[in-house]
Amino acid sequence: MSRCTAELVSSAHRHLVPTYRQRALVLDRGHGSRMWDIDGREYVDFAAGIAVSALGHGDADILAALHEQAGKIWHTSNIFYSEPPLRLAEELVAASGFASRVFFCNSGAEANEAAIKLVRRHAANAGRPPGRRTLITFHGSFHGRTLATVTATAQPKYQQGFEPLPAGFRYAPFNDIAGFDAVFGDDVAGVLVEPVQGEGGVVPADPGFLAHLRARCDDVGALLVFDEIQTGVGRSGKLWTHQWDGVSPDVMTLAKGLGCGFPIGAMLVAEGAAETLEFGSHGTTFGGNPLAAAVARVALRKLSDPVLLSNVETQARALREGLHALDKKHRVFAEVRGRGLMLGAVLRPEFAGRAADILDHAANVGLLLLQAGSDVLRFVPALNIEAADVAEGLARLDAALSAWATARQG
Ligand SMILES: *Cc1c(COP(=O)(O)O)cnc(C)c1O
Repeated sequence: MSRCTAELVSSAHRHLVPTYRQRALVLDRGHGSRMWDIDGREYVDFAAGIAVSALGHGDADILAALHEQAGKIWHTSNIFYSEPPLRLAEELVAASGFASRVFFCNSGAEANEAAIKLVRRHAANAGRPPGRRTLITFHGSFHGRTLATVTATAQPKYQQGFEPLPAGFRYAPFNDIAGFDAVFGDDVAGVLVEPVQGEGGVVPADPGFLAHLRARCDDVGALLVFDEIQTGVGRSGKLWTHQWDGVSPDVMTLAKGLGCGFPIGAMLVAEGAAETLEFGSHGTTFGGNPLAAAVARVALRKLSDPVLLSNVETQARALREGLHALDKKHRVFAEVRGRGLMLGAVLRPEFAGRAADILDHAANVGLLLLQAGSDVLRFVPALNIEAADVAEGLARLDAALSAWATARQG
């Protein structure tokens, strides 16, 4: 570690609220699926800023759109129109296949917060009292860190110490139809679900599970909300992950990949619920920012390209095969699961809880990797990642697993 890195890391330890435990490296620049730290060390990027930098780093078209918009106008607020968010809304509606209107915000949590408010207002408009505006979410889910979205996130580790939590949420087991039906009732106003649980361990919905949720929601007039914040805009090899199941939601939330690194969130709403949040009922100062929208327009166009989507499938296959080969050699993975370029390698039971150790060794050999819980390595690289970068990343993971094995024996 250079003196400059050491100094910055020690500054971070003193000045940042310690909500994260970053590795001791300071990233400086990136190109495609490679990044460099301030000491000039190079990394293969299998993390993409948590499934955000969907076009890698330094995409020329994104940069051009950002520069052009930066020279025109940065911010107008929602009291006045600007063109980029209006065009983006048209394009999202057209690409969605189900929605008729869009609400823009700045992050995933905000998009889900808007969806939760919409579900409740929708039930209120139908004459339901507060006690019959229940939202169902799933064990193992992740929906954000605001008080409402952390309550929707049915994992105690995210909630402890933040009680009292908002009322009106109930939790159901994921991929368990009978378990869901046992929790469901006619007090339910909405069901919020990730088509592939991300933070909860990269767990895809079983075939038929989302269709079952759709049918039960229709039975009682509840809204079905898909949280595609991590799975959306091409991550799965289709533009929206729910297309794999042929099930349409009433509401879909987006964020991560939509801005390719520029903060933006969006809530898309189908015709029947699109006018639920009327004038004055919700808002945001920054949402629909022209810079973010100009970037997201280019991102949406490039991430919708069939050539890009087929690259997702090709590289996902290579990554899966590579992980299976690494398991043959190192005997560390119980399972590789996920969809498209959102893969989880589940550690064998004897290595439970050790994902962070592997991430340390990976960073040491020049590989940026994520975990999803303490038992799963998570792979969410850029969707335009090239075969050579996948191969090099796998080679470095091989080296990291060898170093980890040596460390365990030593
Ligand atoms: C990351 C994520 C969120 C929260 O997004 P933020 O931008 O961090 O608020 C919500 N839902 C899912 C599925 C996510 O992956």
